[in-house]
Amino acid sequence: MTMSPKKITIALVGNPNSGKTTVFNNLTGARQHVGNWPGVTVERKEGNCSYQDYNINAVDLPGVYSLTAYSPDEVIARNFIVNEKPEVVVDIVDASNLERNLYLTVQLIELGVNLVVALNMTDIAKSRDYTINVDKLSELLGAPVVPMIASRKKGTEELLKQIVAEFEGKTNTSKIKLYYGSELEEHINELETIISGDEKLSHQFPPRWLAIKLLEEDKEVLQKIRGGTIRHEEILQAKDKSIAHLRSVLGDDAETIIAEERYGFISGLLKDVLKKPPIEPLTPSDKIDKVLVHRWLSIPIFLALMYGMFQFVFTLSVPFMDWIDGFFGWLGGYVSGVSPGWLGSLLADGIIGGVGSVLIFIPPIFLLFIATAFLEDCGYMARAAFIMDRLMHRIGLHGRSFIPMILGFGCNVAAIMACRTIEDPKDRLTTMLINPFMSCGARLPIYVLLASAFFTAHRGLVVFSMYLIGITVAIIMALILRRSILKGPSGHFVMELPPYRLPTITGVLVHMWERGRTFLIRAGTRIFGVVVLVWLLSSLPWGVEYASAGSVIGRIGSFIAPVLAPAGFDQWQAAVSLAFGFLAKEVVVGTMGAIFAVEEGVLGGAIATQLGWTPLIAFAFMVFCLLYVPCVASIATIRSETNSWRWAGFAALYTIVVAWIAATIVFQIGGLFI
Ligand code: GDP
Ligand code: MG
Repeated sequence: MTMSPKKITIALVGNPNSGKTTVFNNLTGARQHVGNWPGVTVERKEGNCSYQDYNINAVDLPGVYSLTAYSPDEVIARNFIVNEKPEVVVDIVDASNLERNLYLTVQLIELGVNLVVALNMTDIAKSRDYTINVDKLSELLGAPVVPMIASRKKGTEELLKQIVAEFEGKTNTSKIKLYYGSELEEHINELETIISGDEKLSHQFPPRWLAIKLLEEDKEVLQKIRGGTIRHEEILQAKDKSIAHLRSVLGDDAETIIAEERYGFISGLLKDVLKKPPIEPLTPSDKIDKVLVHRWLSIPIFLALMYGMFQFVFTLSVPFMDWIDGFFGWLGGYVSGVSPGWLGSLLADGIIGGVGSVLIFIPPIFLLFIATAFLEDCGYMARAAFIMDRLMHRIGLHGRSFIPMILGFGCNVAAIMACRTIEDPKDRLTTMLINPFMSCGARLPIYVLLASAFFTAHRGLVVFSMYLIGITVAIIMALILRRSILKGPSGHFVMELPPYRLPTITGVLVHMWERGRTFLIRAGTRIFGVVVLVWLLSSLPWGVEYASAGSVIGRIGSFIAPVLAPAGFDQWQAAVSLAFGFLAKEVVVGTMGAIFAVEEGVLGGAIATQLGWTPLIAFAFMVFCLLYVPCVASIATIRSETNSWRWAGFAALYTIVVAWIAATIVFQIGGLFI
């Protein structure tokens, strides 16, 4: 008889970039499940693995530096640990940066969880000649410590062994308690005693942890106390008294003193555990940084890199695009040959024309994702944020806002979610509101299509200019927002410079796939639906000439079109494409493809001749597409991240207004010169 495996739930926590996801992948392999945390749009990854007679269920928590309640990520990570009570918490620690990483570890110790420390990146620590006494570290932390090199899959087996040992209570470590000095300890103990008087509360949360959090005036814990115990008045009064007393005796607020004590614990511990070479020689990263973050060279290098990236993407994607174009051209011809009549028209004109004209952009989009994933994984993106920090302060933001902006080049939805790392609410909101101007991958098809048709010789430059216009408008809007409705000082944070790493091929491919997948799914589903709808509206009323001004779609377009006249493109086809583009920007080209019902390769030409567009009009149209609402999903994300329909509505409206103004300026002013 076989026994069914026993289940252990473990949580993976750690600072961003400590290698959490890599460890998670090593543990679970392909057996992963991706969902969302309840109520928010942060990705929740779960996976399984079996070891000995256990079935281990691993949850990858968001990367955090601390377990305070300052950012949504921290709240998610902490609530999972506190409320779901995973049997074992695995803390992934970057061995090359122990001082900072252990701050989180210390907070896990305070929580009294069953802790296993995965000491990752030991290869980097070693290359810098750090010596880490692992046994001593384990003893001082009161938790098993497993040295690992996750990127080379080293240490996974030992980690599993320690997880099971920790679960079974068979490790040779015993839990420690952080000592906060006599003055603080007195108050912690006092609060702890009162809290322990409420059995229900002290059963839910470790009383000592609650006491410490109360002294830190942690918002979430204060709320828990207010709503979770009849003794809340007594507890809160004692807390206020302690804080006032501590301030008068130690001259600072308890929160600061507690943080100092934690760092004190860490630096003391490291004196025993970590040996660094006497004078640190310049690391290879430092040497590279001498050039890449150089005072004068850094920004020209950044721009050159971005320009080079776009050239690389377009040059390399041309042959692939030709293949796809040829394939869909052949398929459309074949299908309309074998099934004439309305079905053939639906298939060839509608579906193959519409979906094909979007799928042709798979090569440039995936290449762009590869390039950005590479720059991110090797550490250059962090430099870009560092370089921009000073400039960002000028527009009332800081370097941290720059990363979501760059991510916006991939997908605004992901980028808006990445704003969670920004602690200041006004900074966060401003960064979210300007993000739609960062040109996402879905807008690329429009530029490529029109730039190839109207600016054949300079298409790389024209596409690049779209990105620059987007950045410029974002900056202008940030300046306006920070001086009007979102006034306030911009916070100062340490801008981190992680060491350069040679990205792994799988890492880059996985990141590319994670982003590209969204595009493919959309092209496969949403665009498909819209294309069928466009075909239908173009064919109705029955008997009308397909996609003529008399069709339903023609009438809808003609109704909207006059509004767009000042910007130069008042044809109903343009109006309809833009209207459908609200759903997602891929749809703009898909709609054009279905309306003109031509092969993708000649769609640009068809637009030029049938709409009578000049290069100037095409440019104004691209600017409009660049600036108005990126997609319904991005607006929905702003709504869920801000928890406000008003901000979501504001984002939708003001981007349309900005797009209209900018396109009109381009057309009117451009007209004076041409
Ligand atoms: P997360 O942000 O904590 O999820 O970190 P990731 O798992 O995404 O890892 C960040 C980067 O560090 C990736 O490029 C990994 O390939 C790399 N990495 C992970 N573990 C190690 C390691 O032990 N040594 C080295 N040199 N690199 C690692
Ligand atoms: Mg990760």
